Amino acid sequence: MSDVLIVGAGQAGMQIAVSLRDNGFEGRIELVGEEPHGPYQRPPLSKAFLHGSADIETLELRAPSFYVDNKIVMVPDEKVVSIDLSGERGLAVTDTGREIHFDKLALATGSTPRRLPIEGADLDGVLYLRGIADAVELKNRWDAAASVVVIGGGFIGLEVAAGARMDGKQVTVLEAADRLIARAVSPETSEFYRAAHERRGTSVRLSAKISRIVGDGTKVTGVELDGGEVVPADIVMVGIGVIARGELAEQLGLETVNGAIVVNEFAETSDPRVIAAGDAVLLPHPLGGDAQVRLESVQNAVDQAKTAAKTLAGVREPYRAVPWFWSDQADLKLQIGGLSTGYDQTVVRGTPDDESFSVLYYRDGRLIAIDSVNAVSDYMAVRKALGSGSTIPAELAHNLETPLKTLVVDS
Ligand SMILES: Cc1cc2nc3c(=O)[nH]c(=O)nc-3n(C[C@H](O)[C@H](O)[C@H](O)COP(=O)(O)OP(=O)(O)OC[C@H]3O[C@@H](n4cnc5c(N)ncnc54)[C@H](O)[C@@H]3O)c2cc1C
Repeated sequence: MSDVLIVGAGQAGMQIAVSLRDNGFEGRIELVGEEPHGPYQRPPLSKAFLHGSADIETLELRAPSFYVDNKIVMVPDEKVVSIDLSGERGLAVTDTGREIHFDKLALATGSTPRRLPIEGADLDGVLYLRGIADAVELKNRWDAAASVVVIGGGFIGLEVAAGARMDGKQVTVLEAADRLIARAVSPETSEFYRAAHERRGTSVRLSAKISRIVGDGTKVTGVELDGGEVVPADIVMVGIGVIARGELAEQLGLETVNGAIVVNEFAETSDPRVIAAGDAVLLPHPLGGDAQVRLESVQNAVDQAKTAAKTLAGVREPYRAVPWFWSDQADLKLQIGGLSTGYDQTVVRGTPDDESFSVLYYRDGRLIAIDSVNAVSDYMAVRKALGSGSTIPAELAHNLETPLKTLVVDS
């Protein structure tokens, strides 16, 4: 029996603990997190929580009794500040000065919002959204805010924009690129979201060049664009991506790329005594090939953590899950299956103007991913096809008369 220390009590950290027990691990498990809460779901923070229908208690991933029943020592509100692996056993020290001795180490430290390095970014009312504390701050200002500017047209920014619009606020999205969600979806899907947000009353400004954030001395009042125009704002929400939290990994001399902890298909870092999972890692593409990817999703945090726990428990099983992701913006449910990186062809199935359609992605004639908007059966068919290594011929995929699931063939 050995002792496992898991640093980071988020989605992946909790899943590592749960899966260790599921795999028959009987040693001591300590799960340490710096936030004052037990592990919770982040997705509702930009959706139901802001818009009013979820409260903090409903976000908890497990009831406190779960940790007791499964002999998982869950320690909130404590940050691991240093780790030493040079001795026979590992030693971690927290910000309270407490020492934790362990045999095996799991890093599940997640990611942190990228900060906006411009004048005015420290004004009161310029907010980021990662955890409950951020969401509570946003929510406390929500009702009094008549105008919201969202900087960054990615998933979180657009979800906040949609909620603000549903609550009757004047909303402007400022995106530096020439299309929305450019890193994750095709131009067709980007254009759909631009038009759909505009139809709902949000002003979407693409290729926006922000010169500074302006205020009354303390509080934000607007965002100034190149050329001098000021877009008024009671709240500025910045959603310009996240940075992997690889501080501890770097301190340990593990291989990292831009802060992301490099792991293999067994979730092992460059030091096989240390495994890592979730937003913090750079991993081999789960569906094969040479590419390394970062996946910021609940699915990856959960499934990769399962692989990591197996590795710790001595079961060697490579990570091969089909990536999937969702984003709810107003009444638009986006579901993404697979990874579209490197695609060379898209097929649009359905009519974006109907607000129910899919974009299928192909590389070298082979299906690699799908974005579905309010088209769950398309999404399910593609996820299943990708999971079984099958494909759907591109020349047939656009035909709405034929359900996609009937077009799946071996590749
Ligand atoms: C607002 C929002 C909306 C989202 N919506 C979606 C969605 O719709 N669909 C989807 O698939 N994904 C969504 N995501 C992404 C998803 O929540 C993340 O991918 C997932 O939480 C990653 O899990 P993780 O365990 O790697 O990181 P986290 O859940 O961030 O957990 C990491 C934890 O480690 C802690 N930590 C870090 N360093 C230390 C240390 N040194 N000591 C102690 N603790 C430490 C952090 O404080 C944090 O609590 C959303 C994320 C956010 C923020």
